[in-house]
Amino acid sequence: MESAVKRLYYSFFGQEMPASLRNFTEADVEQKASDLFDRLQRREEYGSKVLDSKGRFKAEDSEAFREGKISLPELDLFMESLFPGAYAATFSYQCLPTFDIDNAYAFRGKGLMKNVAGMAKNLVSDTQRARSRFQTWLNASKDPYDTYAYILETCQSFGLRPLFFIQMGSYNNGYDTNIPFRKKEGRALLDLLSSHADIGLHPSYASNFDKQILYREYTELNDILGKKVIKSRQHFLMLKFPETYRNLLELGIQEDYSMGWASQTGYRAGTCRPFLWYDLEQNSFPGLTVYPFTNMDGTLHEYLKLNPERALEQISEFIEQTRAAQGVYTPLWHNHTVNNRWEWNKWQPVFEQMLALSCP
Ligand SMILES: [Zn+2]
Repeated sequence: MESAVKRLYYSFFGQEMPASLRNFTEADVEQKASDLFDRLQRREEYGSKVLDSKGRFKAEDSEAFREGKISLPELDLFMESLFPGAYAATFSYQCLPTFDIDNAYAFRGKGLMKNVAGMAKNLVSDTQRARSRFQTWLNASKDPYDTYAYILETCQSFGLRPLFFIQMGSYNNGYDTNIPFRKKEGRALLDLLSSHADIGLHPSYASNFDKQILYREYTELNDILGKKVIKSRQHFLMLKFPETYRNLLELGIQEDYSMGWASQTGYRAGTCRPFLWYDLEQNSFPGLTVYPFTNMDGTLHEYLKLNPERALEQISEFIEQTRAAQGVYTPLWHNHTVNNRWEWNKWQPVFEQMLALSCP
């Protein structure tokens, strides 16, 4: 069998290990490399039958979580110990703020029938939202999810270029509820975002069960943008190995950003560095680069129920670890979580302080 050290080297360096370095023969090094390669390439998730309600492998079932190592970039520490200096020197620290656009607008662009039904619901259960919906209708105030100018300006003030993942599905299935982007409002938004930021696909929940849907969403986004998208992140972080990545590669996706957990913060693959995905069934590197992330807005606030202060403590720890490993810090936010209202009241300062701490 091929050496695990060599396969790890290829995962991170993207090339064969030079002959001059091929003297790692100690069995314990090889065993540790093999275990960590499995963590990196997610062997435990292949064929797992223990899944959550959406069919996802759970963070709490991962070996790293059970062993208390989820917050440790084990791979980076190991690689630095094997290739001191060389590992750090191959890359330099970056911050890449990313945003999933699940619902481009709370009320705008959704059509009259959806808004009338929504208003009826709001009047019964949420008068704050009913008022906001009415004001947006009258054009008296901005749509509460319309935070794009704020995001672009704030990122720019820290010298950062954001990356937006666009969920193209509008299917009435309760999961894929975005505006139809082929219409005027959607096109105008994509026009604005693509002129100041990078754009990726956010494949819908439905696309996980039908490759035709995935293909349609990808083609529609490309058509509207007038160029081929190569970056992607799964909506709800729906990842099934190896199918999801094989499907994305078939489309022409070259970079995936789904490698993180929904219910826990930390390192799903044990690294903060981009790495080449290895298909454990085909025994090959088919050409997909994975960009992992450590913390998502909803994980901090909704799953772990941290207050803004505690969330910032965790965030700054991840930023420090990423800086030390010369990795890419890719925090995951949404347009509706930086509006400082309703359930996300008091989270805009967290977002801004995170950017201040993370900019290079
Ligand atoms: Zn999403």
